[in-house]
Amino acid sequence: MSVLVKNLVKKFGAFGAVNGASFEIKEGDLAALLGPSGAGKSTILRVIAGLEKPDSGLVQLDGVDASNLSPQKRGVGFVFQNYALFKHMTIANNIAFGLAVRKTPKKETEDRVKELLNLVKLEGYGNHYPSQLSGGQRQRVALARALAPRPKVMLLDEPFGALDAQVRQELREWIRRLHDEVHVTSIFVTHDQEEALEISDRIVVLNKGLVEQIGTPKELYDHPATAFVASFIGPVNMLRGEAARGMATVGGGMKFELPGSGSQTDGSVAVFIRPYDFDLSRSRNAGASVQAKIQRVMTIGGNVKLNLSLNDGHTIEVQVGRDYFETLLVGPGDDVWVTPKVVKVFSQEGEAKS
Ligand code: ATP
Repeated sequence: MSVLVKNLVKKFGAFGAVNGASFEIKEGDLAALLGPSGAGKSTILRVIAGLEKPDSGLVQLDGVDASNLSPQKRGVGFVFQNYALFKHMTIANNIAFGLAVRKTPKKETEDRVKELLNLVKLEGYGNHYPSQLSGGQRQRVALARALAPRPKVMLLDEPFGALDAQVRQELREWIRRLHDEVHVTSIFVTHDQEEALEISDRIVVLNKGLVEQIGTPKELYDHPATAFVASFIGPVNMLRGEAARGMATVGGGMKFELPGSGSQTDGSVAVFIRPYDFDLSRSRNAGASVQAKIQRVMTIGGNVKLNLSLNDGHTIEVQVGRDYFETLLVGPGDDVWVTPKVVKVFSQEGEAKS
């Protein structure tokens, strides 16, 4: 089922939690609502589920306005962060809950529960109780329970939030594989950009109750539309500077040519450069080289991360291959030259200039 959210506004008192958000999730996609705490992600999810009424705007499910549909009639499955399993019920009965509510025949219920226990890899746990399961297993039960009545959309609110890092990672990979098996349109809320990048088909980036950008992980990473997205998705150095006559000057004298040179690009700019988008050398290169002092060297597997200080006080993080770094024969306290290879420039108001 496709999900369309159009000009959604939701206020709590005078406070606007959602301020006119619009986006569309295609049938069969696994999509993330990504943003910092308070961005309005959970509120949007709850409005889609019908658990919260918007002040204005609408939600369409498969092209049909859902405004007057109760949560039960929307065909959505909901998974919360904190499992919300019934403690006094066996795992099998927890999974069967939504089927019992719908008065599904006994044999059909048993078959479906068995099928779901297999799907979430918990065969043999049907007679256990939630307290006998690990956090990751309980969250898989919560998923099975939500999937049991065959929802057309799955909504997951920080489904991995309460789990420790390793279980979180395992569950992430598992949920992607599960989605590839069942193909039900799914929307999950997260504030963890790595999580969103790793498993989503599409990501909706939210900030202050508004959509900053929607796109595939690659689109957001390579072509952030706003300074917020550039700073939120993936590791990046942000340097403030000035643009004049088609040139931007930032970070201790680094200069870049701006495309479409002209007076419209003059003024304060924010420049974003990924740590691995620098050339590093012992001597000055042509182009935009700037001198920097090595503060710290961290070897991580095949790469070396360096903290460098520029002569205007900015600190930047640069990453190069370990083999290459070792040919430079430099270390903390030494001066090197850095040349950015790929830069993204935004005016201070936030729209992209390059
Ligand atoms: P988080 O990751 O912290 O849950 P979020 O992006 O999911 O953040 P929401 O939970 O949607 O954000 O909340 C958005 C804003 O609306 C927050 O500032 C929150 O305090 C406020 N808010 C949410 N629900 C209510 C409510 N029932 N009453 C009052 N304010 C609320």
